[in-house]
Amino acid sequence: MTTDQILTAAETAHPVLRAAVSGLPSYVPGRRSAGEDIAALASNESHYEPLPAAAAAVAEAAGRMNRYPDMAAVELRERIAGHLGVSAGEVAVGPGSVGVLQQVITGLCDAGDEVIFAWRSFEAYPILVELAGARAVRIPLDDAEGHDLDAMAAAVTERTKVVLLCTPNNPTGVPIGHGRIEAFLRSIRSDILVVIDEAYVEYAVAGTGPDSLALYREYPNVCILRTFSKAYGLAGLRVGYAVAAPAIAEGLRRTAIPFAVTALAQKAAIASLDATDEMQARVAVVKEERSRLAAQLAAQGWKLQPSQGNFLWIRAADDLRARLVAAFDQADIMVRAYQGDGIRITVADPASNDRVLQVLAAVPAARAA
Ligand SMILES: *Cc1c(COP(=O)(O)O)cnc(C)c1O
Repeated sequence: MTTDQILTAAETAHPVLRAAVSGLPSYVPGRRSAGEDIAALASNESHYEPLPAAAAAVAEAAGRMNRYPDMAAVELRERIAGHLGVSAGEVAVGPGSVGVLQQVITGLCDAGDEVIFAWRSFEAYPILVELAGARAVRIPLDDAEGHDLDAMAAAVTERTKVVLLCTPNNPTGVPIGHGRIEAFLRSIRSDILVVIDEAYVEYAVAGTGPDSLALYREYPNVCILRTFSKAYGLAGLRVGYAVAAPAIAEGLRRTAIPFAVTALAQKAAIASLDATDEMQARVAVVKEERSRLAAQLAAQGWKLQPSQGNFLWIRAADDLRARLVAAFDQADIMVRAYQGDGIRITVADPASNDRVLQVLAAVPAARAA
């Protein structure tokens, strides 16, 4: 090569993203709530302000932002462990339970390994799996919008490393019963990590979903994922955790980005655990609103599966979905639309919920489902 040719090659060459990355969908930010009148019902956040004790803990910790947080989050892990009756060695924390899940997948999967999950379920699942170079195996939901555990068990191969179970499922709100998960655990290899994602567990009526801690005690290949983002109202602070066998939990802590859980988040999470009663009182209000919405929508003629999350799911093919999205848009209500599948609406304060009822009452010919 001449000097000229080398220079030309140097000018045209450019850094290239890995195929797994360039294949990912671009992140489309949701519409930001711009004014008072826009109801933000698209992300299943708590509509309540943070618990007062959590806000006070953050204000207190803010004065020490010049310092790194406790990288091992010892105090928070001990408090979570005490709360659940496990040891701190079985707890790993991360920046949201999505952060912990990324640690799970990068910690267990080599390129080409398989991760099985239901679909439709949480949108982050395929992204985290593909980013890790693993293969996402999507198993369609059953007719009742729940996990088809038989089909999931049948999809296990030698390459299966992780199964993700989301209960209650986001976005459909359908839980997975304890006995069904237990039968599933008995039917698959014990070297497959079964992650039970319980982001909405606080909103579920007791007994509808699994006793995940009991399952974990009996089946050490269970990993429980929980978050402070939803019922505890700390979505903006980023803190969630996993409970897993000590060797797995230790591995998750090793794959964590150093200092990813800030001191503010750690302190707020500890204060929130101390205020669990207050959180539960708020959750009780949301559950009542969920029942009220369900009853009124049934009276309007909508046929929906009962939801155990702080959201409602309306199955809708594209035509109906487009009409619903337009109607909610028109009413300044942000909801989450899923191409080909339907829309999800967060249950919030009574006034916002009334607006949702009004919109849905005015969408005719949509009662099939
Ligand atoms: C919201 C949600 C999470 C939690 O996300 P964070 O990262 O903790 O904010 C996890 N799983 C599911 C299914 C969710 O809907």
